[in-house]
Amino acid sequence: MKNTLALYGGTPVRQSILPYGKQWIGEEDIEAVARVLRSDWLTTGPMIQEFETAFAIVAGTRNAVAVSNGTAALHAITYAVGIKLGDEVIVPSMTFAASANCVVYQGATPVFADVDESTLLIDPKSVEERITEKTRAIIAVDYAGQACDYPVLREIADEHDLILIADACHALGGSLNNAPVGSLADISAFSLHPVKHITSGEGGMVTTDNPLFANKARLFRAHGITTDHRQRESMGSWFYEMVDLGYNYRITDFQCALGISQLKKLMLWIRKRQEIARIYDKAFSGSEYVRPLTVREGVSHAYHLYVIHLDTEKIGAERNVIFSALRAEGIGVNVHYIPVHMHPFYRTRFGTGPGLCPSAEHAYESIITIPMYPRMSDGDIQDVITAVLKVTGAFP
Ligand SMILES: *Cc1c(COP(=O)(O)O)cnc(C)c1O
Repeated sequence: MKNTLALYGGTPVRQSILPYGKQWIGEEDIEAVARVLRSDWLTTGPMIQEFETAFAIVAGTRNAVAVSNGTAALHAITYAVGIKLGDEVIVPSMTFAASANCVVYQGATPVFADVDESTLLIDPKSVEERITEKTRAIIAVDYAGQACDYPVLREIADEHDLILIADACHALGGSLNNAPVGSLADISAFSLHPVKHITSGEGGMVTTDNPLFANKARLFRAHGITTDHRQRESMGSWFYEMVDLGYNYRITDFQCALGISQLKKLMLWIRKRQEIARIYDKAFSGSEYVRPLTVREGVSHAYHLYVIHLDTEKIGAERNVIFSALRAEGIGVNVHYIPVHMHPFYRTRFGTGPGLCPSAEHAYESIITIPMYPRMSDGDIQDVITAVLKVTGAFP
């Protein structure tokens, strides 16, 4: 029977699994990487700055610092802004663990704020409730690709003398009131993992207008050492000093070459993501079971993820059953995220747990991420819609 769920032996909508996200590598990307592999500099070479310059233009900032991955970017940020032992940093609970881990790396305490249930963005009211004398910074996460309410967060930060950090790993290419993501906070982090908007394999970027923050991030990515190999080479000098404890968070030149090549396609891909989102929005607008997240006024959404809220009561099945049913139909759904304060590490180390962020915990029970990436064909998009409507309508 056509409408029997694949989970129960029916014919699946697709034979092979459609992933929730996927990179798009063209021949010109491969050429760009190959050129660098044939050159003299595989790392600390000229591609690093070239990528940083191109990225800073897109992010609308004076500085960009390329690092080995998005998590390293976040760590470089907590270091650069001076987060240290005894400090508290407010982080939303509905995010990837790295948004909070970067606080712990510096010996500080992440304090989890709740999110707005319609957008899953950090709730400014919850932020205000969490501020103490020890609070030094707020990390806002542009969840799914939508910029947070930065004007309000800025007011709160200024009033309490806090640094405003953006974990913008979901939102490269997005904007708020025509100001690009990357320029909306004091300092922002990006990831170039293959599932994100553009990729360098692994890679990350810090963007900021503040030259002191940028210099500190540069120092931090290279062991806390003041010059790099190429600078010393050009000065004909061997001398260097390590002035603070840093890490090796460098990115290679061939990764940056890939990043530069991919960056040229970013805005085309963002428009494609927005187009797919419009098709999904329209398809689900008539459903009583499915509700897309709310997009706020003034936001140009970068749609790293397309997340739907399931009315599990009306559907008559729990999220995990719906998840399995969609997988069985060949749709590579995912869940973003288990609220970070619910992870065993945070429960054990910081005594967090159920009840701390009720909206995030509640939302977690009913969200699902459906495939979204620019290379999806019209047929892929229709398969996702067919499967979502089939599954959500199939229970008693
Ligand atoms: C992807 C991601 C990161 C980490 O980036 P990596 O490059 O994988 O280290 C951090 N925060 C958020 C919100 C992310 O989505």
